[in-house]
Amino acid sequence: MARIELKNLAHSYHSKPKSEADYALQQMDHVWEDGQAYALLGPSGCGKTTLLNIISGLVKPSEGTVSFDGEDVSALLPQERNIAQVFQFPVIYDTMSVYDNLAFPLRNRGLAETDIRARVNEVAEMLELDDVLTRRAANLSADAKQKISLGRGLVRSDVAAILFDEPLTVIDPHLKLYLRRKLKQIHARFKLTMVYVTHDQLEALTFADKVVVMHAGQVVQIGTPQELFENPQHTFVGYFIGSPGMNILPCNMDKGLATISGSVIPVGAVHESLSGAHELGIRPEFLRLHAAAVAGTVKVTIRETEDLGSCQIARVKMGDHSLKVKLDEGDTVPTEEGYLEFPPKWIRIYADGKLVEPDRSLKSDVEIAQ
Ligand code: ADP
Ligand code: MG
Repeated sequence: MARIELKNLAHSYHSKPKSEADYALQQMDHVWEDGQAYALLGPSGCGKTTLLNIISGLVKPSEGTVSFDGEDVSALLPQERNIAQVFQFPVIYDTMSVYDNLAFPLRNRGLAETDIRARVNEVAEMLELDDVLTRRAANLSADAKQKISLGRGLVRSDVAAILFDEPLTVIDPHLKLYLRRKLKQIHARFKLTMVYVTHDQLEALTFADKVVVMHAGQVVQIGTPQELFENPQHTFVGYFIGSPGMNILPCNMDKGLATISGSVIPVGAVHESLSGAHELGIRPEFLRLHAAAVAGTVKVTIRETEDLGSCQIARVKMGDHSLKVKLDEGDTVPTEEGYLEFPPKWIRIYADGKLVEPDRSLKSDVEIAQ
């Protein structure tokens, strides 16, 4: 396993890129620590596959270098990089048996047949392929074929890293959950460096120790699921992570107060020094909706309330702006008008999409979470 370092990396599929828009990956420096399980999360087209293919050597970056444990591998071919990669669709040999498919990467490396048998059996058991080892791959279901692909990625224990590019896309939902848990167990057992690409936040949050969030060719935040939830460093992370995402509202800051279409919201001492146009972010979970006015609350109109069984989502209007408020299943939601409370400890302020770090020297006792 290896520590993978990307330095001054950027990639454009154009031969003569002219502007930022011509780059699939904007310039970045990034380290994947040895033995960690990462999820690479972002919407379709943000550059996840490009980044993965640069690590494995399938794509040569237009700028910058890739190194494994300090050794520059930028000039090496994929087969010289010692990487296992699992793609969205099965890559297997249809005419071979399941056993031979799994053994193939090991035979290629010249392992002894007894060692191969032990390892293939171990992987087959983990993926519940042990019953079909002697069957020809061609005759199996799409799910089973993708499990073979996963197995081929997992069978070698000497790889620098295993890269998964949305590997569970073709798998049915029930099996998906099972395989995701399996991959997590496999990581815990073998401490492999794993990078798991997905556009599904739930998949990312359940698989990884660290989630790397990408947006428009850039890494915008790396963090634990909790860090991404509580402290989004970028408004994109705020609304992409969470269900529903963070409420983000344009505001004017002055002396620790945020004004949003005429309503004034105290944001706490830590933001007292800010002035002018900013964005205020707060998650639907942290807003409180009251039936009667309480000090520091803002009057809102309640548009609709959706009952999701385990919780309720109220959509409210504050001036021209819509917000979502998440309430517990048993909470009584006011029907036409309500008063919205913005607990200062959960308010985040952004400038041009980026989090403005609170000024801790101005911290007051109530703002413990900042
Ligand atoms: P993701 O995997 O996050 O969906 P990709 O890395 O596939 O994103 O794509 C990033 C951007 O690069 C997209 O705008 C896509 O259209 C473009 N792109 C990807 N592959 C190629 C290619 N082979 N040639 C030209 N453009 C490409
Ligand atoms: Mg992709």
